[in-house]
Amino acid sequence: MKGDRMGAEKVDNPLLIVEKKATFTKALVKGPVYGEKTFTRKDGQWREWVPKRSKLCAAIRKGMRQFPFDNDSTVLYLGAASGTTVSHVSDLCPEGMIFAVEFSPDTGRQLMLLAKKRGNIAPIIADANQPITYAPRVWPAEILYQDVAQRNQVDILKRNAQMLLKQGGTAFLCCKARSIDVARNPADIFAQVRGELKGMFQILEELDLRPFTMDHRFYVMRKL
Ligand code: SAM
Repeated sequence: MKGDRMGAEKVDNPLLIVEKKATFTKALVKGPVYGEKTFTRKDGQWREWVPKRSKLCAAIRKGMRQFPFDNDSTVLYLGAASGTTVSHVSDLCPEGMIFAVEFSPDTGRQLMLLAKKRGNIAPIIADANQPITYAPRVWPAEILYQDVAQRNQVDILKRNAQMLLKQGGTAFLCCKARSIDVARNPADIFAQVRGELKGMFQILEELDLRPFTMDHRFYVMRKL
């Protein structure tokens, strides 16, 4: 596992700025989404991406090397909540599509409002345990991102990857040990998770997200 370092020299994307102490995405739509700072320069407005609010940003700050988000990527995002991280993925894939799945209709309401302002977000209120219910509405994705904090989170990821992630596509798993088993040693849980992921995925990176988020491992994988 890698230690603390900035990923600036690794993550190369014209819609992303990674400075020593802050990260920004180029706003697809002007204005803050969750109270983050913005600044404007000649090429448009930029929004601060706050690592304590987004595990994807925390992973960048912890030195993640893989960064498959392109202008036109199709992303299946499981556990979208109100759209904090989704909004930055939307900035990074302006001509792509983010299928954003959220279980809670209450939380999903804010996601719907966000999607009204951004044409590249398709909100889906559904249970990620049952990809069959939304598969007809989703295109095969190059990227699968999951942040659901459920006991069976590995199973959910595999089920969705099997149906909806292209071969060779990239899967990201925000794995929360306490959601799997609050009593067990997290190191044992993560060893088990690694074993369960192998077979379907090649694990490319495994990152500890502290100090931004406690108790999580962030896995970056390629679908075999
Ligand atoms: N990814 C979000 C972000 O960075 O902005 C935060 C996600 S929050 C930690 C986890 C979300 O997953 C919650 O909104 C929860 O309702 C949702 N969730 C949990 N189980 C789910 C399931 N089975 N299907 C879809 N969403 C689920």
